Amino acid sequence: MTMNEKMQRTVHEDFRVKREAAISDAEDRQRFLQERIAGLKELDAELASIGPKFMFAAMGNREEFEKLELEFRTHQTSLMKEREALLRAHGFDPDYDSPKFECEKCSDTGYVDFKACECLKNAIVKKNYLNSGLGKASYNQSFENFVLDYYGGTMKDGKSNKEFMGDVLSFCKQYAENFGKESESLFLSGGTGLGKTHLSSAIAKKVIEKGYSVIYDSAQNIFDAFENERFGRSEVGSSEKYKNCSLLIIDDLGAEYVTQFSVAVLYNLLNYRLLNGKPMIISSNLGPKEIEKTYKERIYSRLGGDFTVLRFVGNDIRKIKM
Ligand SMILES: [Zn+2]
Repeated sequence: MTMNEKMQRTVHEDFRVKREAAISDAEDRQRFLQERIAGLKELDAELASIGPKFMFAAMGNREEFEKLELEFRTHQTSLMKEREALLRAHGFDPDYDSPKFECEKCSDTGYVDFKACECLKNAIVKKNYLNSGLGKASYNQSFENFVLDYYGGTMKDGKSNKEFMGDVLSFCKQYAENFGKESESLFLSGGTGLGKTHLSSAIAKKVIEKGYSVIYDSAQNIFDAFENERFGRSEVGSSEKYKNCSLLIIDDLGAEYVTQFSVAVLYNLLNYRLLNGKPMIISSNLGPKEIEKTYKERIYSRLGGDFTVLRFVGNDIRKIKM
């Protein structure tokens, strides 16, 4: 089972639980009414028997089916009206004991006409977001609130930083909108505070909304997870999500303490994902040259050969905002 399937299964389970709770609450209210209103229990029993009685009567009577159906429906409607009147007479709202579902469109089944209801889609996105490792803070980082005006100055070739970053922004937007299994991997390179985290969060959000699983974590946390698993300090399989999610975002590569182990983990992870057509976004304050120094030739050639490099230019926009 893929991560996405596992996650969808938990969402469906949540729906089943909340639907059953709504029904059982309604049944409690129904019992409450039946204890207080004389004749209601008998009326409800008769209402409940209509369906089975009709099924039985219709079974041997194909030619009479429509007539029977009409008869039973009329009977049902009149009983329901009687029930309504009885409840009102005792000062209760007629739907006092009908189930109160969170979503009226799908009665918390998650489906309308065999199609996923909007509420189910939203629940899956929310679950995916909670599982992604993207914090609450980054939930507000979108393409819409990425401010290009913070990017002052010009580049060596005379192009303004603002214009250059405008291109980076539209590239990222397109990337997120067209995300799929064939998407390329990205290497976001540039100094601190130039918006790498902002844009990777914005991509993550969009990709999650499209129904993909995303994991966002710092390079250090990822290495720790593999190390803990290897030395039995955490459950077997706890690093699995980094290998199998649809999009892996490794934040701040190069800030961590590099060991032979972390180099091997990174190399294996990159290889596994590239071979299986699973895109990644890696962001780093280091330039490609420094990556080569820190992470050796093998990783450098992977990053150079299989990743599209996006350069972030400008001055630290966090300082400008302050
Ligand atoms: Zn719904």
